[in-house]
Amino acid sequence: MDGTSNFSFDFNTTQLKDWDRRHLWHPFTQMAEWMEEDPLVITQAEGCTLVDSEGRRYLDGVSSLWTNIHGHRRAEINTAICRQMEQVAHSTLLGLVNAPSTVLAKKLVEIAPGSLTRVFYSDAGATAVEIALKIATQYWQLRGQGERKQFVSLEGSYHGDTIGAMSVGYSETFHRHHRNLLFPCLRIPPPHVFRYYKNMSEAVSLEASLQKARELFAEHGGTLAAVILEPLMQGAAGMWAQPAGFIREIRKLATEHGTLLIADEVATGFGRTGAMFACEHEHEKIAPDILCLGKGISGGYLPLAATLTTEEIFSAFLGEYAEYKTFFHGHTYTGNPLACAAGIASLEIFEKDRVLDSLQAKIELFTQFLTKQIVPLAHVADVRQKGFMVGIELAEDKATRRAYPPEQRVGKRVILRARAKGVILRPLGDVVILMPPLAVSHEELTLLVKVTREAVETVTEAE
Ligand code: PMP
Repeated sequence: MDGTSNFSFDFNTTQLKDWDRRHLWHPFTQMAEWMEEDPLVITQAEGCTLVDSEGRRYLDGVSSLWTNIHGHRRAEINTAICRQMEQVAHSTLLGLVNAPSTVLAKKLVEIAPGSLTRVFYSDAGATAVEIALKIATQYWQLRGQGERKQFVSLEGSYHGDTIGAMSVGYSETFHRHHRNLLFPCLRIPPPHVFRYYKNMSEAVSLEASLQKARELFAEHGGTLAAVILEPLMQGAAGMWAQPAGFIREIRKLATEHGTLLIADEVATGFGRTGAMFACEHEHEKIAPDILCLGKGISGGYLPLAATLTTEEIFSAFLGEYAEYKTFFHGHTYTGNPLACAAGIASLEIFEKDRVLDSLQAKIELFTQFLTKQIVPLAHVADVRQKGFMVGIELAEDKATRRAYPPEQRVGKRVILRARAKGVILRPLGDVVILMPPLAVSHEELTLLVKVTREAVETVTEAE
């Protein structure tokens, strides 16, 4: 049997929907609403297109939750996974080596920003963040500076839904019921808060945010374990963009105060912002001490994440066994060979197809489309873009940026309208997110923006 057999689930769509309603609990979903709706069942995909159980085709406008890079069913990735499956599907990294996780680690170290040399695998963005926080905490203890235990993050940041990740990335809407479980964390208001909500210019908002950061570091510098941030674009906050120079200044502050910088590139990594990593843009070029990767790391195929550290951090954990300096952390599927094989194939496509080079023209086209077709719309209060990460903020009143009442479900209605026109989107509240696979064609990009425009106009101008 070759690796690509005709295997498929034999199902009846009506029955499947019934089982879904009765047995599934969907993530980030009000299930009372869900159970009243007729859900879309995705059965196939090809390139940047998703196909539903009725054979209808949709452009995957958010890369299947920001993961897909080179398109669905890419031959090279399919082959890599199938070939690996012929060798071994899973073997543990606890006490054993496997080839794909080792080769991928070497490749990640080669392309990572700064001088990161060590790769600790896990299987979700949130776990990559938990690992970063635990490594930072233990590192300071091992270095004899146990007083460095506080974390600083950006207001509105999102780092995942496990306890540590929620603590540093607190969202009132998402996490308020779990507040009693979370540890306290210091926060810097990012430039977006001043620019968008206080109507300041970009330059003034950058300075206002950095001033807050300087004050915080001056007061707490000696007790900080690390500052954690999503560089360039705070994704799940609703695409809060950072002006040039922001992360460079935060890096400088962290260095001056002797603390670590954790870059969470779970969303921004693997080309999303136009460079392989957001930390690498010409105007920033920062070297994080710890880097969290997820989502696109496997090309969007299989659950995989990684936390990279410097040799300096890693070496603090070395010693005699009985000193118990070991990083006692691990997940069952850590370094899964199939997921790592997909990751290697994805990085090879980046090289072979010169993906980042060809992306630049698409980013320019995207910017032009957004400027001409979306920015002028009557209820579009703000359009924020970093490469292939776009947030379109809708507001009841564009001039004052007054938001729509949440019960109007404007963002959701827009994406349902877009769906009816053949584009799959997922909003963050009333921010419409556009995040297509990097492999999207000019024609598909044209369709994405055209349908988004029609959907936004239809829904907001009917109000
Ligand atoms: N960090 C960032 C910046 C993210 O955007 C996300 C997910 N959207 C996460 C962490 C969590 O990743 P996961 O959902 O894979 O746990």
